[in-house]
Amino acid sequence: MKHTVYIGAGSNTGDRLGNIRKALNLLDNPGDGKITALSSLYETLPFGYKEQENFYNLVFLYETSLEPEALLHLIKKIEKETGRKERERWHEREIDLDILLYDSLVYKSPLLTIPHPGLINRDFVILPLLELNNNIAHPESGIKLNSIVIPEPDRCVIRKINQEFFKNEQ
Ligand code: AMP
Repeated sequence: MKHTVYIGAGSNTGDRLGNIRKALNLLDNPGDGKITALSSLYETLPFGYKEQENFYNLVFLYETSLEPEALLHLIKKIEKETGRKERERWHEREIDLDILLYDSLVYKSPLLTIPHPGLINRDFVILPLLELNNNIAHPESGIKLNSIVIPEPDRCVIRKINQEFFKNEQ
């Protein structure tokens, strides 16, 4: 059975755009799943530990038959293949892939929480998600994402870059 998943990608060290491109190309593989829509790219301030480079973030729609934990395993493998090094939590990362939404599933295990716990308080996740689907509601609380207003001091988005970069790779 095909599942509709929204995945967030971010990078703030090395070739940030190249890292995101590489991870997306690795994921867009007939054996695993297909990327069917891509948000704009966003330049964003780091969340948490501030003394680091700005991030590039985007969100994409992924059609896959993989079950949640198998998908987590795949994205962890692709983070490694993209060159992610082990560092402390909140520190810089070559690539970060997060499962934001998986159909309308609510799932909690020691390894995986769906929807992603950061979904409702991160503008760099909400804005690209709304670009892809303005009607998304949080599966657990029912809150419409387009009704969430992130307070100014907590906003991370600096600018939106209308990037066609992934399509150019096809
Ligand atoms: P990160 O440092 O952002 O790569 O995430 C660290 C850990 O968060 C991962 O190894 C996962 O086990 C866990 N995790 C929990 N929920 C999620 C989710 N929805 N998407 C990705 N990772 C998750």
